[in-house]
Amino acid sequence: MKEYKSYFRSTVDAMAGYAPGEQPKMLDLVKLNTNENPFPPAPSVLGALESFDSSMLRRYPDPMADSLCSAIAEVNNVTRNMVVAGNGSDDILTMTFRAFTAPDKPVAVLEPTYSLYPVLAAMQEAPVIKIKLDENNNFAMPEDILDQAAGANILIITRPNAPTGNSFPKENIRKIASEFDGILFIDEAYADFADDNCMDLVHEFSNVIVSRTSSKSLALAGLRFGYAVAHPTIIEGLNKLKDSYNMDMITQKLAEAAIRDQEYLQTTLAKVKKLRSELACELEKLNFTLIPSQSNFIFAAPPDKDGARAFKFLRDHAVIVRYFPGEVTGQYLRITVGTAAQNQRLITVLKELYK
Ligand SMILES: *Cc1c(COP(=O)(O)O)cnc(C)c1O
Repeated sequence: MKEYKSYFRSTVDAMAGYAPGEQPKMLDLVKLNTNENPFPPAPSVLGALESFDSSMLRRYPDPMADSLCSAIAEVNNVTRNMVVAGNGSDDILTMTFRAFTAPDKPVAVLEPTYSLYPVLAAMQEAPVIKIKLDENNNFAMPEDILDQAAGANILIITRPNAPTGNSFPKENIRKIASEFDGILFIDEAYADFADDNCMDLVHEFSNVIVSRTSSKSLALAGLRFGYAVAHPTIIEGLNKLKDSYNMDMITQKLAEAAIRDQEYLQTTLAKVKKLRSELACELEKLNFTLIPSQSNFIFAAPPDKDGARAFKFLRDHAVIVRYFPGEVTGQYLRITVGTAAQNQRLITVLKELYK
């Protein structure tokens, strides 16, 4: 074989790829590590799958996913030209980073937050400004966030945030939208589980992009569907940068069925929120320190603040949660809200550890 030599851009050789949460093959594990929904997707999704005409697969899908995007627009009370669909909201983020980041166009993100953002920035060779959340105040945003973000071309606010699970006052978000000289990207992956959301800001501010995913609240992480809503000119720009056929034909059909079934969504959300408060209660009884959650997971520090030890013990007992090494995050576990039985199993193992 010809001797290997790297022809990669030096950035690619230097960067680390995104490290996704583990997807173990063992089915009997209690899997509370990647914020999937413990309940199945809407029955209408199965209906759409069963009625799908597979002979159509020889054709290309609709490149603009028009029928799906119209459904998204309807559900969110916006016009069709304010919507773009993506192969997961990670695809929306990819388009966004292509559009608004470059070596001379920095991105500002919270810290800690979703670890994909710096990876996408690295691909663009864009500088990253990290804005530290206040770990002594439930990971609130710092008051000088606008000063810290000054010079960034885009500011990403994950609301509710991951992995911390908390939200930020909407008035602060509105103020940032109004005063920040750049794009404000609000990642609302978990907004369905929260008390409020920022979707209406897209009518007030032409620099706001709101993104959503079907992976958590709609229980469709395996399908890969997310979307963004923004001013029509922003959407027009993102459309230039997306992969031409980013939404496959099956996903377009199934995603539309899911998004149209708002009643099923509301039923699932109520169940998850009830389980969230029950799980929070149990963790508090075990003297965990909890960050108030507006999402479908709980960021909680065990009594000895040793996240690594708890993570390992749980894993040895077939319960997987997420652990993020680091001086601050390493004190915590991120625990996805599971079914009652899964949550009970987690609590039983934790009782064994802290007995
Ligand atoms: C899960 C998640 C996403 C990605 O969602 P996909 O639609 O599955 O790509 C984006 N942002 C945050 C904050 C998430 O937690």
